[in-house]
Amino acid sequence: MDFAPTPAEERLREEVRAFLRERLAPADARDDGWIVGFSREFSRALGERGWIGYTWPKRYGGSEGSYLERLIITEELLRAGAPVAAHWMADRQIGPALLAHGSEEQRRELLPRIVRGELVFCVGMSEPNAGSDLAALRTRAVADGDHYVVDGHKIWTTNAHEADYCYLVARTDPHAAKHRGLSELLVDMRTPGITVRPIIDMAGEHHFNEIFFEGVRVERRWLVGEENRGWYQIAAQLDYERSGIERLLSNARVLEDVRAHARETGLAEDPLWRDRLASVLTRVTIGRWLIYRVAWLLSQGIVPNKESALTKAFATELEQEIAELAAQALGPHALLLPGSPAARLAGRVARAVAFAPGYTIMGGTSTILRNILALRGLGLPAA
Ligand SMILES: Cc1cc2nc3c(=O)[nH]c(=O)nc-3n(C[C@H](O)[C@H](O)[C@H](O)COP(=O)(O)OP(=O)(O)OC[C@H]3O[C@@H](n4cnc5c(N)ncnc54)[C@H](O)[C@@H]3O)c2cc1C
Repeated sequence: MDFAPTPAEERLREEVRAFLRERLAPADARDDGWIVGFSREFSRALGERGWIGYTWPKRYGGSEGSYLERLIITEELLRAGAPVAAHWMADRQIGPALLAHGSEEQRRELLPRIVRGELVFCVGMSEPNAGSDLAALRTRAVADGDHYVVDGHKIWTTNAHEADYCYLVARTDPHAAKHRGLSELLVDMRTPGITVRPIIDMAGEHHFNEIFFEGVRVERRWLVGEENRGWYQIAAQLDYERSGIERLLSNARVLEDVRAHARETGLAEDPLWRDRLASVLTRVTIGRWLIYRVAWLLSQGIVPNKESALTKAFATELEQEIAELAAQALGPHALLLPGSPAARLAGRVARAVAFAPGYTIMGGTSTILRNILALRGLGLPAA
């Protein structure tokens, strides 16, 4: 495989950098910008450039670009801390799910608006008693004429408080085996009967929520794909969700700024620090190539599964280590001295430490990903 970028790919990278220099004010840059950096305006600006839905067919507003080019765009956005949360889920997984399973009506109605950066989606999968064991979910959608009536409770739903639509997984056949009775529905978040309640995370931020559905009527035309086949459709969506460069670069800016801090303070000369930093940077490079490999697989028409599990487990555990490394560099300043000269960075490092446990939980825990690797990667027998 030739890893060298083509001249066109290099030009695209430069184009994204120039756009960021012009459009991203330093004060708007965010660590974890794909989760907490929410700006509809910024998403619309990206939409105008054709950088949302970049690989999708032109007939739905997409650019029909390559997966590698899409990766170059997302890599530059995340490195800069661009506030991309408003379109992230729609671009990453909802669009591909609709292209794979959605009706023509759903695609024509939603994809062009996603591409323009106008639509915010949340993903309603997890419930209080159904996270890793997603097939245990209890939210139900009962057919009633040309509607489904939805009742249930979702939790940890990122940006539900901002979303226009929820991509909801609900039980449509309570009598079938638990994996066989699930369906996917697109639910307009303005529908009566929906209540969103915020959850504040350990860093004091509001990005995820609970959603309560009480007698919510959803037209049957918003069923995605086949009734009761939801489980099989979700699998590919999770593969998209797990394999992007956001799983490596969430706190990349913290790492860069801590390295600069280490140079300024002389820590950079400490052999123990240098050893640990070298180890982290080596693995960042490995993680980056794992993610580029996923993009290459996608470009061959292969939806990565075990590769996606491997990439997410490897890269998110590294993100946690980056938060730890940052805390080590700042020492007690990281948590205790907001008035110190390193105050701005200290606050960000404290936030990084508080947020880091989430990296290996969201989108599937590392344990579950190792299970996937064992079963589908190594072919080990199920217990
Ligand atoms: C920041 C953040 C954002 C999120 N955003 C969303 C969102 O937008 N939409 C959404 O639907 N969900 C979202 N989630 C929820 C996330 O998908 C779940 O938290 C995750 O799947 C784990 O489920 P759980 O929390 O119920 O933990 P559990 O499934 O109860 O797991 C608890 C522990 O048991 C382990 N465990 C569970 N089952 C097994 C097993 N079979 N073998 C070995 N170990 C096991 C797990 O690894 C974990 O350590 C988000 C979570 C976070 C942290």
